[in-house]
Amino acid sequence: MLKQMKEVNKLEIPFVTLKPMHDEISEELEQAFRKVIKVSNYIQGEECLLFEKEYAEYCKTEHCIGVGNGLDALSLILRAMDIGKGDEVIIPSNTFIATALAVSHTGAKPILVEPEIDTYNIDSSKIERVVNKKTKAIIPVHLQGRPADMEDINKIAKRYDLKVIEDAAQAHGAIYKDRMVGSLSDAAAFSFYPGKNLGALGDGGCITTNNTNIAEKVRMLGNYGSKEKYKHNVLGSNSRLDELQAAFLRVKLRHLDKWNKERVKIANQYITEINNAQVTLPPKWSNTFKHVYHIFAIRSEERDKLENYLNCQGISTVKHYPIPIHYQKAYKSLNYLNVELPLAEEISKTILSIPLYYGMKKKEIDYVIEKINNF
Ligand SMILES: *Cc1c(COP(=O)(O)O)cnc(C)c1O
Repeated sequence: MLKQMKEVNKLEIPFVTLKPMHDEISEELEQAFRKVIKVSNYIQGEECLLFEKEYAEYCKTEHCIGVGNGLDALSLILRAMDIGKGDEVIIPSNTFIATALAVSHTGAKPILVEPEIDTYNIDSSKIERVVNKKTKAIIPVHLQGRPADMEDINKIAKRYDLKVIEDAAQAHGAIYKDRMVGSLSDAAAFSFYPGKNLGALGDGGCITTNNTNIAEKVRMLGNYGSKEKYKHNVLGSNSRLDELQAAFLRVKLRHLDKWNKERVKIANQYITEINNAQVTLPPKWSNTFKHVYHIFAIRSEERDKLENYLNCQGISTVKHYPIPIHYQKAYKSLNYLNVELPLAEEISKTILSIPLYYGMKKKEIDYVIEKINNF
């Protein structure tokens, strides 16, 4: 009898589900789908143009260029800036592998700089010591949805004549000192991978910039190096935002602020109510750093035990990220194993992301808090 009651009280909480979000707008999404089929123009049609216009307006930038995914967005920006072999690009040591791969794919070398342990974003006070003649750019990542400290980063970039590229893949709608993420550097890369705060129903990405030269170049590079059909000026690639995905994104963009607001609300409740002394909480939302909590990650010295405990209670978790870039097999060739990056290592060993998604029920949020506090 007791055992049965226990089972009844146990909840199953996924790490993330897009179902509540998409159920709410399924009618709008289906309409968008039908419209694209009716118009029957599947690459670079009206929907794509309109989405680019609307997303540029949202980010308060002059240009938005749709591309195939977030990785391509970063690579195309680097290529448009003529960054390549022999160059170095500074990135945070605790980011998703895509930030590093984009640099490597151009032939340049990613240089890893440690994050601040309390914000997880690149520590701007550690950037200058790695700058040298080969350094061409800095890619701050607005990790987990929190804007990086762009003022300091832009100051350093100005001092050494470096380009700045935001990796905004996790931070759609985040605001830094009253300015939208995506408008704070020479160019920004967004991903519309389904699970991101603004996600397509498949792959997608875009570049935002106020620099017309970069805008024209990335558009050309992602379209076979061509401005005019069958005239190819450079060795381009094929990376364009699908018309169908653009149509879905237009629908979803209209709801993004509401969804982000709910994420912040859940995060605030977590931050206020999780009081286990063994658990370190992520940074708070503030007027200066308007976090959008793409990921809500806690840290604990007992991470693996905590993870196992939560999973046994029916709460799914994810580690962002379990293996730092300098320990990845793919980066063995660059001899990264010789660099000391204790913070990236520490974070990979202690970090644990807990469920946070639009449509998460109050009793589910309460349950997660209760279980963490009981650990
Ligand atoms: C998701 C992500 C990317 C890559 O985006 P894709 O669309 O999956 O290629 C790049 N950087 C960061 C920080 C990301 O989280």
